[in-house]
Amino acid sequence: MRSVVITGATSGIGKAAALGLAAHGFQVIGTARTTEKADKLTAAAAESGHRVRAVLLDVTDPGSCQDAVAEIAELTGGGPWALVNNAGLAVGGAFEDVSEADARAVLETNLLGVARMTRLVLPSMRRRGEGRIVQMSSVAGLIATPLNGWYSAGKYALEALTDVLRREIAASGIRVSLIEPGFIDTPMLSEGIARLPAHTRYAEAYEAAGRLIARRRPLGPDAVARTVRRALTAPNPRRRYSVGHEARMAR
Ligand code: NDP
Repeated sequence: MRSVVITGATSGIGKAAALGLAAHGFQVIGTARTTEKADKLTAAAAESGHRVRAVLLDVTDPGSCQDAVAEIAELTGGGPWALVNNAGLAVGGAFEDVSEADARAVLETNLLGVARMTRLVLPSMRRRGEGRIVQMSSVAGLIATPLNGWYSAGKYALEALTDVLRREIAASGIRVSLIEPGFIDTPMLSEGIARLPAHTRYAEAYEAAGRLIARRRPLGPDAVARTVRRALTAPNPRRRYSVGHEARMAR
């Protein structure tokens, strides 16, 4: 049975991917930040007749990443076959308004967190001579829109870093893919937009963001979960998968 680790499996896309992959015969390890959420994840899997193991992880904490990967090595007998770097954070707001602390939190989670987890699983994949890394990027990694600066900056950087990694390990047998969803109906989207400061200076951009989301009718998280499965099951996975947006939106 092929083992796959999904970070941020307590909600939205990560949860849908964890449950979906477990239903398709993968050994799934989903990560959670609290024991309460970990228990909810394993219970949700059990309710649907499948097994998902939960491991505690905060990707912004290097020690937590090391502990999680050590635990995952034990559960998988040496290391996972695949890692899906899905955990993410969105902080919206205008360039002039977002605090440095918020900007740092976004980059720590969406960029450095992904790099940390990837570096920690690569040695066991290299030893095995195969493996899959799937990075949850975004259409925001391709186009830049108002009020989305730090989130977009992190995803643009993730795209670049992943392209570099793919080239560096091309001969290793490890395949690396990026998934670039458009608007997906998860707490990140609903709560993220709701959290955007309706700052008078940017009221117009704020309203435009809301109108764009309404017009584009977000897909459900299962659509992305299916794409994760495609990236894991294709003999030669694509470098990039778009979900819920047209390629013409890309720069
Ligand atoms: P959710 O907010 O529903 O889920 C985010 C997940 O990441 C949660 O499980 C959350 O854990 C976890 N997480 C957040 N911070 C950390 C951290 N420091 N360490 C470990 N786990 C963490 O969002 P989505 O499902 O929408 O997002 C999943 C991914 O998809 C993200 O990378 C996002 O950028 C990307 N994406 C989402 C889109 C959308 O429209 N929704 C569009 C394009 C890309 P907890 O439950 O503890 O908060």
